[in-house]
Amino acid sequence: SKKIYCIGELLIDFVAENQGADLTKASLFTKKAGGAPANVACAISKLEGKSAFIGCVGEDPFGTYLIKTLEACDVDLSLLQRSDTFTTLAFVSLAENGERDFVFSRGADRELTYDSSVKDNFRDQMVHLGAATALLGGPLEKTYGHYLFDAITENAFISFDPNFRADLWHGAEDLFIKKCMPYIEKSHLCKFSLEEARMLSGKSDLVEASKALHEMGTGIIAITLGSEGTWISTNQTHRTIPSIPVEPVDTTGAGDAFIGCLLQQISELSSHSHLLENDELLMEMVLTANKAGAITTTGYGAIDSLPDKNQLNNLP
Ligand code: ATP
Repeated sequence: SKKIYCIGELLIDFVAENQGADLTKASLFTKKAGGAPANVACAISKLEGKSAFIGCVGEDPFGTYLIKTLEACDVDLSLLQRSDTFTTLAFVSLAENGERDFVFSRGADRELTYDSSVKDNFRDQMVHLGAATALLGGPLEKTYGHYLFDAITENAFISFDPNFRADLWHGAEDLFIKKCMPYIEKSHLCKFSLEEARMLSGKSDLVEASKALHEMGTGIIAITLGSEGTWISTNQTHRTIPSIPVEPVDTTGAGDAFIGCLLQQISELSSHSHLLENDELLMEMVLTANKAGAITTTGYGAIDSLPDKNQLNNLP
């Protein structure tokens, strides 16, 4: 199977345990490994796919904790960098009104520098760009652009998930849209939330939104709809693949489990062109990926609740 290089943020999420307290009141925090592309790398490896993570953590105990967490999932970290800058930290709490209270101490993840020798690894493999913080400026944003270009020249299958966080963009949506464009243009597969698909296409209707997004360049669009399942669209066809009914306790990481599972299945194909020739194959893969998303919602945390092959096969 092909190796999937997941590039971008890896950070600590400090999750407040006090029910209904905003961050001024919260006093007890649980340390969790976070970062969407890192979650995706773990999802792939837990399903026995081959994954590597490329990102940067600090030379501090939190950086070491993150490395140990990804190593425990069997993610290849040989291209990971460490920096003098402190590991990136996020603090999150669910306030009384159900709103997320969030502060972010941006650190080492921003410092990922470009290494032109990495590109040889991408030859005929797969690259997942799970942006999140990657388009917020700094060395990481430049590195991202270089790796997108390298993935194209090395004939890699390219997947993009913008991971838009309103908390981080402070209303600068136009800038976010502009920065996503080259990635949507060059990716074979894009995964969006409904909010992202509407924002990036400027259309609220899913058929029209998909059409606009295909016109920007991407061949396959997956729009995850939580308990409603996944909207999947190619230039030939579109359909909603229903979700698997479960009793969710924490939906964190469901989207990452979904895209990780989809990429892991694609990595087993001899050529990804089969996907566009065979719609049924793609639909079946999405159904399996929906199972991975559903299982992840039944446990707490992102990485801890990712399914392995057995759990996936045991779901009807
Ligand atoms: P996150 O940002 O939290 O990772 P997301 O918004 O990217 O999530 P979701 O739409 O929440 O992604 O979920 C991804 C997939 O997981 C869905 O397409 C669906 O298949 C599955 N899923 C999510 N929530 C549920 C649920 N409540 N019941 C069943 N399946 C679910």
